[in-house]
Order: sequence, then structure tokens, then C-alpha cells
Amino acid sequence: MAGVNVGDVDIGAQYTQRPMKFLLPSSCIACKKFQAFSICDKCLKLIKNKQTHRCRQCALPCQAQKLICDLCQRHPPSFDSTICLDGYGGILTEALQDYKYQGKVALATCFTDAWKCAFQNERLFHEEIDWMIPVPLSIKKLHHRGFNQSWELCKRFAKTFNKNADPYILGRNHIEGDQAHATREERFTRLINTFRVNPKRLHHIENQHIVIVDDVMTTGATLNIMAKLLKDFGAQSVHNWVILRTSL
Ligand SMILES: [Zn+2]
Ligand SMILES: [Zn+2]
Repeated sequence: MAGVNVGDVDIGAQYTQRPMKFLLPSSCIACKKFQAFSICDKCLKLIKNKQTHRCRQCALPCQAQKLICDLCQRHPPSFDSTICLDGYGGILTEALQDYKYQGKVALATCFTDAWKCAFQNERLFHEEIDWMIPVPLSIKKLHHRGFNQSWELCKRFAKTFNKNADPYILGRNHIEGDQAHATREERFTRLINTFRVNPKRLHHIENQHIVIVDDVMTTGATLNIMAKLLKDFGAQSVHNWVILRTSL
């Protein structure tokens, strides 16, 4: 099925109508120099040059001759691959923070454009993708932030690359508690209980190739739990597309 299936209701639409915050930038999102495109050639070149030395599975920087990093070899994650546009702390960090915390939702389009430019010759867009999904937010968090930064990227990616997107495959519970003072084990248990599969969308998981879209990947624990859940319910492969990747 071609095109974008955004489900019954666009969960972010009611919040993305506030006009002033969502103006498109008229300059490169990285260096801020005025130009017609979302990202200038110079910044694009900087980003592209960093792509060659990352682990194929988790996108952490690794030695050029290695396809998979030592960490993934020792503890293989449930997801099959990760692609990031750049590292956290690099030239896109400020734009990403503006996007996420200042509510500049239009920057999602710029990131998608930059992604397309950076990877236009790569074979990843020819790989089989059945569904693109966001990291879901709990209803409480969605009301607080006003939009799901992951879904805003996801639906633009899906439209750009003519793939299906579905924000309702996984749901997220709001887990109360003091996250900052929780032990590692407590955080892990909470994370496992955080996500749930939508029983009405099982046919979007079984034997499907799924891409999870997110803005920033830090430890990868959240994406790993999601990938495990999707594979437990029969997903054939799970891949991550993230804008920025932190180094551990
Ligand atoms: Zn630039
Ligand atoms: Zn790795």
C-alpha cells in the first residue's frame, strides 16, 4: 500500500496550529546563513563525512573497518540497524533543541529535507519498509509538550519516501515516579511496562519491516525495548532512523 496512512486522527494536528511558532526558517538550520534550502552545501558535507564511521546496528562512532561496534557484538540489541543524520553536540544540535523545546515544529520538515540530501545516493531508501512508526508519547506528555516530536518527523519521512506511517501500532503508558532517583533496575522495569501493543494493529507488525523514527537516540534503551516488543509480536525487522545520536 503506497502513501501515508496517518490513522484515524492526527494526534499532533490540534496542537500544531499555533501560528507564530511554526514559521519555516529562511536560513541553513545548522550555520544560520541565509539561503534557499534547509541546509547549505558546506554543512551537508560536514554531516555526510561523519556517516562512514558509525556502527551499522546502533550508530555509535566506531572504527572504520568495523561494521558492528564491540558493544553490539557483546550485547546485540533487538533492532537491526540505526541511521542517524549527525551526532549530538554537532552542528544540528541547536536546531534540534529549538525543534523539541521551543515548539518550532516546522523544523521537522528541514530535518527531513537534510536527511534526504545527506542520504540521497544511499541504498537505504530502496530497502523494504512496510511501516514507519514514532516513539509514542504518553497522553500526559503530549499535552505538556503540545506535539510528538517523533511523530512529526515520522509522518514527514513517510510522505517524502512514499512509505506507510502509523502512530497507533504502539501505545505508551504514563508511569508515575521519581525517575531521577530510580535505580537502573527500577528504570528498566518501568521502561518494559511503558509500551503496549495495539491489538487492532497486530497485522501491521507480523512479518513486517518496521522503521522507528526518533529525534535523539541516547542509550538506545527505549528503542531497544520497542524493537523487542515488535519482534515478540512477529516483526521481521526493526530499524531506527534518528536525527541525532549521542556518544556514550
Ligand atoms: Zn550551513
Ligand atoms: Zn553498535
